[in-house]
Amino acid sequence: MQMQRLTIHIKLLQNMFDGKSYLNYINKMDSSFKLLKLSPEILAAIQNLGYSKMTPIQAASIPLLLEGHDLVGRSQTGSGKTAAFALPILQKIHKADKTPQALILAPTRELCEQILQEIRKFSKGLKNIQVMALVGGQSSSAQIKSLEMGAQIIVGTPGRTLEFLRARLVEVDDLKTLVLDEADRMLDEGFTEEVTQIIELLPTKRQTVFFSATFPESIEQLSLKYQKNPKTVSVLQEKTSAPMIEQFLYIAEKPEKIDTLMRILQQHPANSVLIFCRTKASVAEINELLLEAKVATSALHGDLEQVQRDQTMARFRSGSLRVLVATDVAARGIDIDHLELVINFDLPSTTDIYLHRIGRTGRAGKKGVAVSIADAFEATKVEELERVMGKPFNRFELNLKGKAVIAKTLQQPKMKMIYISGGRKDKLRPGDVIGTLTSQPNAIAATDIGKIELHDTFTYVAVSFAVAGKALQKLTTSKIKGHKYKASYIK
Ligand code: AMP
Repeated sequence: MQMQRLTIHIKLLQNMFDGKSYLNYINKMDSSFKLLKLSPEILAAIQNLGYSKMTPIQAASIPLLLEGHDLVGRSQTGSGKTAAFALPILQKIHKADKTPQALILAPTRELCEQILQEIRKFSKGLKNIQVMALVGGQSSSAQIKSLEMGAQIIVGTPGRTLEFLRARLVEVDDLKTLVLDEADRMLDEGFTEEVTQIIELLPTKRQTVFFSATFPESIEQLSLKYQKNPKTVSVLQEKTSAPMIEQFLYIAEKPEKIDTLMRILQQHPANSVLIFCRTKASVAEINELLLEAKVATSALHGDLEQVQRDQTMARFRSGSLRVLVATDVAARGIDIDHLELVINFDLPSTTDIYLHRIGRTGRAGKKGVAVSIADAFEATKVEELERVMGKPFNRFELNLKGKAVIAKTLQQPKMKMIYISGGRKDKLRPGDVIGTLTSQPNAIAATDIGKIELHDTFTYVAVSFAVAGKALQKLTTSKIKGHKYKASYIK
């Protein structure tokens, strides 16, 4: 039994990236984080997150970065590359110095935000480490304040960073590490000029690190000009059939699946999550556990009345629910513009269902994330999925010590839904509802009003969680278009 399990595991691992090189690679290096020269605090943070092994890009880059080498890392999002450059940076920060010591440049605000969140995951338990974003579209004064308070790690977009450097709002004398993340995208999007000017303003004695999915001529030029004896590490995956969807696979034995799910919710921050289960019983069980963890969640399964289903969907669409736990059958009619995260608690029985499930994320040009949980006995199914997708999953195995800390975003619904007893047949229009809510006294700001769904005999309106009480009060005591209606929260 044990033997059989082991064989399947190796087979699964062999599949990772390309089989041959992975096996070579595990022969050559041990992938435990404990072998790294990282401080006990950082190792504890890694352990708290449940990471049991380094990903290939981490195992290949972290030792080199800790030794101070310049590096060109070829890898894609989803490979664990953020931790690959972030952990060595955290290790090298001089906590006593409150000046910027590392600068990470990335092409978009969203990416900067993701990197920031990832670094915060590791630095949570570390005292005296300040990380900040330097991106456009946010107030400069808040950013100036963060710098004054002593940010040691800056994650910035090229535009805003250059602006601050030129205005001498950032002190870079102590800067030791520069990282260009998604360097190819940064150059493609026309930031070459800004990036070069930024580098020219930094101390020449520094570590320079590039991470990039491709290695075009432009990157080579940049590397020749600004890196010293760079090492190259490369972990590449084939092109994907669903390019906007990052697909992860967590291997877990059956009794560990729920714990693994909790870690996934901790590790993949998202505002809207759909969790698929094979049976009604698991839907109910998981929903209960999430409710206990104070997650804004609801269950969707075939036994629910149509009205309940509609209400649940409306709440999910408006952001008053963050998580839906559903069976395939119940989810069939779900129409949601964009989901940030789809989790397959159970692998579906066919690849078609898999593609259909994950197709609910990554829509309209937005990035989506799909995470599946499988046990070692599902290797054949996993292989089949990988064959159809034309690429291997980003694979992880977790070490489930300690308790998962569920992301606050999932616990704080953005909006609350209110039911109003009048609808289209009463000649109500969205403007009428907005009119009542924004009228004096006790006006609700228009920016606190979300989706308004008009139905024949009733209306749903979403309002910001913080002003929900005030909004309900208004709707129950004031008239809408000259009439009094009943109003209540939808639970
Ligand atoms: P990235 O490629 O940096 O966007 O990382 C992808 C995801 O993998 C992130 O949600 C990380 O928190 C997670 N991750 C990174 N390294 C590991 C690891 N060694 N074990 C488990 N999860 C990881």
